[in-house]
Amino acid sequence: MTNVKVAVKKHLFINGRDVEAAAYAPLYSPYSDELIAEIAMADEQLTKRAIGSAQEAFQVISKIPAFERSAILEKVVELLKEKADEAAEVIALESAKPITFAKGEVSRTIETYKFAAEEAKRIHGETIPFDAAPGGVGRIGYTVRKPIGVIGAITPFNFPMNLVAHKVGPAIASGNSIVLKPASQTPLSALYIAELFKEAGLPEGVLNVVTGSGSVVGEAIINDDRVQMITFTGSPAVGIGIRNKAGLKKTTLELGSNAAVILDKDTNVDQVIDRCIMGAFSNQGQVCISLQRVYVHEEVYDQFVEKFVETAKQLKVGNPLDPETYISSLISKKETERALSWIEEAKQNGAVVLAGGKLAAGILEPTVIVNVDPVLKVSCQEVFAPVVIVNKVNSVEEAIGYVNNSRFGLQAGIYTKNIDHALLASEALEVGAVIINDIPTFRVDQMPYGGVKESGTGREGIKYAVEEMTELKLVVWNRGE
Ligand code: NAP
Repeated sequence: MTNVKVAVKKHLFINGRDVEAAAYAPLYSPYSDELIAEIAMADEQLTKRAIGSAQEAFQVISKIPAFERSAILEKVVELLKEKADEAAEVIALESAKPITFAKGEVSRTIETYKFAAEEAKRIHGETIPFDAAPGGVGRIGYTVRKPIGVIGAITPFNFPMNLVAHKVGPAIASGNSIVLKPASQTPLSALYIAELFKEAGLPEGVLNVVTGSGSVVGEAIINDDRVQMITFTGSPAVGIGIRNKAGLKKTTLELGSNAAVILDKDTNVDQVIDRCIMGAFSNQGQVCISLQRVYVHEEVYDQFVEKFVETAKQLKVGNPLDPETYISSLISKKETERALSWIEEAKQNGAVVLAGGKLAAGILEPTVIVNVDPVLKVSCQEVFAPVVIVNKVNSVEEAIGYVNNSRFGLQAGIYTKNIDHALLASEALEVGAVIINDIPTFRVDQMPYGGVKESGTGREGIKYAVEEMTELKLVVWNRGE
């Protein structure tokens, strides 16, 4: 079924070439358990070697003019367009992302690198009105944005190509070098992109991909003084640990969530069902802004639940490489067991499972649970599985209270035709972004993206990531008058 030629052994990518490691680990398909590849497991020494390469390459990339950095990124855009189908199969194979969504991720990745190519040309500072202070009269000055050096990028499994692009794209656009540690289950997408950058003419050592375990490679990157910044996307537990160890390094942390949407009483239910299905179940719910909680006004609650459950039950479960498949395997059996145990806890505590809640040929079916106490794990923790809760509320104010009763705050959505309610939600919801008349799962790649509370710090979205990856430097001229 697949055209992807997967090499038996996948090495590290350091200083523009393949580097062998002392140990290799088997990589299995989460769906079929077949062996996909043998992946190099870097140790501390090899990670340090990659950091050394990145440090040398920083002297090169930081001096390359913006138009050339942009041209390299444009070339990657062109290459990825040519190889889009193959790239999607790589994602589907290693992560069990259904191929339709994997193709969507490749399209998004192309857009992300395109935005990075464009952004490379407009990184600039501003002039400062020095004579606004008596002591500044006779001075002129301006700020410039300087690249910071070696950036350590640590990425998760759920968008293995586009979330790499959100770090590699702005880093290269702004003249930095990178040591990238992809998730252990999804190293192939990162290595695939590294090859494209090589073909596009990126100087050796600017992008290094170091595969291996988080506790070895990740820790070695975090602890190395030559690394100026850690940009991390992943779970809150690991993110908080990174922040604690990072010292004076810059950190961008894109962490988890239990994102919610509010449906006001004037919601046209038919118009929102498909969006809510997509938000809850695309990529098996393994999306940081996956729709996990739906708070529905009592006037439309019954109608919504009936249609939502009916649609969820029709989603096709199966092989990720089948274009008809909507839901496939979670990233590991352990994660499937965890999600099942959370569903069981909900059932034991009065919640009612109206769809799914069980396995079909090893795959967790799309699951809809109603009447859920907010203290239960499926509500208050990040479920990261095709599980969504739907609860009844009697006002938008009550719903906002439920949404905010969370450790997380990434994005939230509200469907309403009432402008006062929309305005209230936009002001009162404690999140990085409020989406009016859409699900919280909405994202395009140029928008500022990031959370509050345990959802993280800092923003991605190319322009905003470039700000994080550059240092503002001030130049002051004394005219001597
Ligand atoms: P994870 O377990 O935290 O892993 C993320 C990355 O951190 C992996 O590369 C992992 O390596 C590495 N890592 C693990 N332990 C480490 C350590 N001690 N030091 C340094 N690095 C370490 O997360 P995941 O399961 O891959 O991804 C799911 C999580 O990501 C969810 O919480 C989701 O919400 C979040 N996420 C957030 C966003 C966002 O933009 N806010 C986007 C996507 C996903 P190994 O794979 O080798 O363990």
